[in-house]
Amino acid sequence: MSVLVVAEQLQGRVRDVTFELVTAARELGGPVTVATIGPEALDVNRAGVDEVVHVQTEQAEFENDVYQRALERLIEERQPQVVLLGFTVNSMGYAGAVAAKLGLGFASDVFGLGRDGDEVVATRAFYGSKVHAEVGFPAGKTVLLLLRPTAWAPAEAGGSATSSSIELGPVQSRARHKEFREVEKGDVDITTAPFLLSIGRGIGEQDNIAMFEELAGKLGATLSVSRPIVDAGWMSNARQVGQSGKTVKPKVYLAFGISGAVQHLAGMKTSETIIAVNSDPEAAIFDVAHYGAVADLFDVAEELAKLV
Ligand SMILES: Cc1cc2nc3c(=O)[nH]c(=O)nc-3n(C[C@H](O)[C@H](O)[C@H](O)COP(=O)(O)OP(=O)(O)OC[C@H]3O[C@@H](n4cnc5c(N)ncnc54)[C@H](O)[C@@H]3O)c2cc1C
Repeated sequence: MSVLVVAEQLQGRVRDVTFELVTAARELGGPVTVATIGPEALDVNRAGVDEVVHVQTEQAEFENDVYQRALERLIEERQPQVVLLGFTVNSMGYAGAVAAKLGLGFASDVFGLGRDGDEVVATRAFYGSKVHAEVGFPAGKTVLLLLRPTAWAPAEAGGSATSSSIELGPVQSRARHKEFREVEKGDVDITTAPFLLSIGRGIGEQDNIAMFEELAGKLGATLSVSRPIVDAGWMSNARQVGQSGKTVKPKVYLAFGISGAVQHLAGMKTSETIIAVNSDPEAAIFDVAHYGAVADLFDVAEELAKLV
């Protein structure tokens, strides 16, 4: 089953989601082609990639119209059975338009992929992740899928792909990339932190945040939060985990006073080790936690602080 992966890049660096897409593509059996779009070819030659195709464009950074045109051209020339893109802000800006224009099968936020004979079967969530559904795409039409970042492990190095290129020519973008602006000083990138100490409404008051900042510092963890902490204006939304915040996959996710609403779980449930502290034994966070303590979070925080 021929699969085309569209690489994502930011300021000349290939984003990790690209290599996760390669792993997913390999599960479909291949051959796997990875396309990079931009003025320069980027290194995406990971294990399992059969062909790397560079679509040469004038624009260095992402623009919807350029990527739309590039993807249409790739589909026209390569005729893949499946096209995989990350479920990212960039892809959401043009993938739906390509699928509608070319009449492709389409699903977004896919976190499981398989085959039933020639049929592609994608697993995705509905109703705020309360229901998971398998969506089948009968053979014959190209299927375009947006895959959830962090749902697959990144493909390893060591590819032996052939390479080729396509010149796209000028594209009149209706919206041009102008510049990157640094986020406010003091904000952190919780998506790359290996150890997150995450606090929720259970901490009660704004004044209690300081003790968790201190505990996080002692443990070498980065502080993240559930949405009510952001809504209350106690922390910046750069630290929010969940559906309307960041998707994280740290080695350790230590949650204090977070109930485990589906919108929160959507952003952290693939963390390698989840440890939850909650006084309610029925809290949904315990459904995804590997270790849990039914306890008062302040008692646990105090004991932990004594240990480090
Ligand atoms: C469209 C939409 C998008 C959303 N996006 C997000 C998102 O991105 N991220 C997000 O987090 N939420 C999001 N939400 C909100 C989400 O539905 C929940 O309301 C939110 O996650 C609850 O946060 P919480 O677990 O901190 O608070 P609560 O649900 O109030 O849970 C607090 C927990 O603390 C425990 N607790 C209280 N006191 C103690 C104590 N002393 N010791 C131990 N445990 C204690 C309680 O038992 C409880 O389980 C979204 C909602 C919608 C509708």
